[in-house]
Amino acid sequence: MKIGVYPGSFDPFTVGHLDVLTSACRLFDEVYVAVLKHPSKHAVFTDSERQEMIRRVVDTEGLANAKVACFDGLLVDYAKQVGASHIIRGLRAITDFEYEFQIDAVNRHLAPDLHTVYFMASPKHSFLSSSNVREIGTYCGNIVGLVPQCNIEIIGERLARQ
Ligand code: ADP
Repeated sequence: MKIGVYPGSFDPFTVGHLDVLTSACRLFDEVYVAVLKHPSKHAVFTDSERQEMIRRVVDTEGLANAKVACFDGLLVDYAKQVGASHIIRGLRAITDFEYEFQIDAVNRHLAPDLHTVYFMASPKHSFLSSSNVREIGTYCGNIVGLVPQCNIEIIGERLARQ
């Protein structure tokens, strides 16, 4: 069975993330969407909220082979724990490449048998990031089309309250 882990802060999960997850679900038998418990930047949404929102998307989209979980510590250890052979990441601009290149080198050092696969962002989502969404939402801007429909209300309300 081919298992992949898609790690991220997902603060919050966007339609760009969904795009990557959908492609990964077609390629792997099982995909763990792994929410990083303590991202380096302070998260707006708690880890349970982030997981809950992703679960709602997974259910709504019928991604039957996606599992949502939370992890802390080294990603390579988590991947090993769930029996994953691959890490899944998304690539937008050249700036993502630089960052991903470094992370990949570190992960290869720690776990040479664990490989990373990258999905190119769809051109219509190549500008989209969770931080864009947080910024737009904080000023009560329109986040429709940026985050999955099923989470618009909860994300909009929370960001506007900040
Ligand atoms: P992290 O803090 O680990 O980068 P993110 O939640 O920001 O977590 O992103 C998780 C992964 O999803 C990263 O590989 C990132 O490049 C990718 N990603 C984020 N936004 C998009 C998008 N719009 N299209 C494709 N991939 C994306």
